[in-house]
Amino acid sequence: QQTIEAFDPELWAAMSAEARRQEEHVELIASENYASPRVLEAQGSVLTNKYAEGYPGKRYYGGCEFVDIAEMLAIERAKKLFGADYANVQPHSGSSANLAVFQALLEPGDTVMGMSLADGGHLTHGASVNFSGKIYHAVQYGIDHETGEVDYDVLAAMAKEHQPKLLIGGFSAYSRVMDWARFRAIADSVGAYLLVDMAHVAGLVAAGVYPNPVPHADVVTSTTHKTLRGPRSGIILARANEALEKKFNSAIFPGAQGGPLMHAIAGKAVAFKEAMEPEFVDYQKQVIDNARVMAATFIERGHRIVSGGTDNHLMLLDLIGKPYTGKDADAALGHANITVNKNAVPNDPRSPFVTSGLRLGTPAITTRGFGEVETAALTHWMCDVLAALEEGNAETVIAEVQGKVLEVCSRFPVYGA
Ligand code: PLP
Repeated sequence: QQTIEAFDPELWAAMSAEARRQEEHVELIASENYASPRVLEAQGSVLTNKYAEGYPGKRYYGGCEFVDIAEMLAIERAKKLFGADYANVQPHSGSSANLAVFQALLEPGDTVMGMSLADGGHLTHGASVNFSGKIYHAVQYGIDHETGEVDYDVLAAMAKEHQPKLLIGGFSAYSRVMDWARFRAIADSVGAYLLVDMAHVAGLVAAGVYPNPVPHADVVTSTTHKTLRGPRSGIILARANEALEKKFNSAIFPGAQGGPLMHAIAGKAVAFKEAMEPEFVDYQKQVIDNARVMAATFIERGHRIVSGGTDNHLMLLDLIGKPYTGKDADAALGHANITVNKNAVPNDPRSPFVTSGLRLGTPAITTRGFGEVETAALTHWMCDVLAALEEGNAETVIAEVQGKVLEVCSRFPVYGA
């Protein structure tokens, strides 16, 4: 049979342009990473053909004996990796995992308390445009705008006032360590369930370089494609609790999803095995070292980082007071082949579409082999582009930086030629 290239050149052009973009651009979007060729192999496998509604050993379809093995491998490895007694590897995404947990633990209208999108939370933590804020009564906490960190005393007072049934820890844009024990204590003080959504830091947690929420939370959700470097997907983890396990399982199937994506589940199984290799720990340590160097270099060049630095894989660059916006900075860096995302920062006077900040993360550059030397050099180039935006000679500097980025990318290929 003809390949995509021969059969569908239009689509192939887009796919090959994307492959080239990934090789020739430096990726600093904190939620992205490059899945291994093995993960891609699983995702492109014939397991995509199989319907397997239900759970291993209890399926609604015949012919599930081999996909049962794949799913059991994923489950057992997820449990081992995160020290959990229960794992559901069927969520199609992080949002599906959160939807299922809400359905398992709450009734419509119940109060939930999560971090606001503006301060670093995720849409599914109670944003008004999301199911979590539409179907449930969402109370949103933020960070202290002076320190850039979570103020647990404020959280405790809010919980006391609003009496949530579900407290949510976890974030999409927060550069510090969250104190899961404090979250547990606050949840206990009002009799709430504690959900920790560790999507961003799951890889760091797996490697033991960021605190594991599993011992503290009633339930932990995650994506598998960020720092964890697996396929685009989700998981639910918990400690032993038969009643809750049943609720989570039926909330995923038949509650929120139909047939599981067996190719993605195979991708998770192989990614979890990769995460048990000693090199994975070295990788995650390097992710944090690179983030620290990046934050320190920005500070050295006169920039502000929200909370003054980072303890994980990401940071927020605070551009309030600069003559350019987050959107301008995002576009200028993009022209220099450096991919970032604009992001609101505390006290941001601009709209979420414009913003006065950038969110930057090191998981992807570290996967392609950048160490501290390359990360520091890259950060200086970014500072050069930002300085040029102020000085009005952006075009020349962007062209120079793009040349340097292309050179370093060719020395650190993602998947090779
Ligand atoms: N939870 C957090 C904390 C996230 O950052 C994200 C993704 O950005 C999600 C959930 C949602 O994951 P997905 O995009 O797979 O639905």
